[in-house]
Amino acid sequence: TIVLGIESSCDETGVGIVRLDDDGTKTLLADQVASSVELHARFGGVVPEVASRAHLEAMVPAVRRAFAESGLRMSDVDAIAVTCGPGLAGALLVGVAAAKAYALALDVPLYGANHLAGHVAADTLEHGRLPSPCLALLVSGGHSQLLKVDDLATSITELGSTIDDAAGEAYDKVARLLDLPYPGGPPIDKAAQQGDPAAIAFPRGLTGPRDARYDFSFSGLKTAVARWVEAEERAARPIPVNDVAAGFQEAVADVLTLKALRAAEDHGIDTLVISGGVAANSRIKSLAGERCAKAGLRLRFPRPRLCTDNGAMIAALGAHLVEAGVKPSSLELPSNPALPVNVVSV
Ligand code: ATP
Ligand code: MG
Ligand code: FE
Repeated sequence: TIVLGIESSCDETGVGIVRLDDDGTKTLLADQVASSVELHARFGGVVPEVASRAHLEAMVPAVRRAFAESGLRMSDVDAIAVTCGPGLAGALLVGVAAAKAYALALDVPLYGANHLAGHVAADTLEHGRLPSPCLALLVSGGHSQLLKVDDLATSITELGSTIDDAAGEAYDKVARLLDLPYPGGPPIDKAAQQGDPAAIAFPRGLTGPRDARYDFSFSGLKTAVARWVEAEERAARPIPVNDVAAGFQEAVADVLTLKALRAAEDHGIDTLVISGGVAANSRIKSLAGERCAKAGLRLRFPRPRLCTDNGAMIAALGAHLVEAGVKPSSLELPSNPALPVNVVSV
């Protein structure tokens, strides 16, 4: 079974092709991503109208490249999965419209897929089926959530989420404070590796004994970094960018892994999968590795390329939906910018 996956929820036009074998094995045959990130960089964030237009221009060429990469023909496709939410309204529409057109032309079933479940599904392309249950720490530009995944295709339960900024959003905002480029994750990760994580102590949001056990808060941390930088500037001292980055990153990694391990322990879950763009972060991976080893948990995460937005993860989720016998969507499939994480397919 050949599944074509289409992703356009934010600023990446992603097209992936996955083969699902009878034994459940999923093989990645194509993974094409066209990003409009440079168009947004000078605005310090994604400009929705610019993103929609870029998707429109990039979609058909990306589909063509994916077929060239896989060596398949369009008539080989058995099913199509498309991100129908959550994401930017205009951006989602482009992918959904394209997927409907291909589904109609090729006469194959269409699956409206949840972008966030897709981020989790990315790891199955590398490490195979997820055990049931497993705990997913989903950390991306717009979301930070702890999910209990009983079945990727049908049963995802949110245990906790951020009450303000997402982890990736905090990276992007702190990068701006430090005059580092957008998106902020990669440059902060790099700067932090040259800094001292203990040089500046930044707060660990929502980790007090009376705080929600599985929820996150990153806006206080971002404000603490802003105050610290302002104070240094007032005192006319140079900003030790590497140390600030390292201290900030340590606080993020500490809270994310602490809460993930706590949730796994409380729910008797033995596998943690970290996914989403922020899962590309070196310190989050190393600290999760240390803590999971100590607690006897298995840890999985996809390679960085599959952590950020791509069509391969949507094709992988589509393959799960096919395998699970989930009912396909109608050609009237709507997109939903606020699709909740527990609605895996529409
Ligand atoms: P969502 O999935 O919530 O809709 P999104 O699709 O925009 O949001 P992703 O593409 O999954 O998010 O991730 C982008 C985010 O990942 C950005 O905020 C970026 O700064 C962050 N990021 C990328 N690489 C790293 C890294 N090495 N360390 C930390 N953050 C990173
Ligand atoms: Mg992006
Ligand atoms: Fe994403």
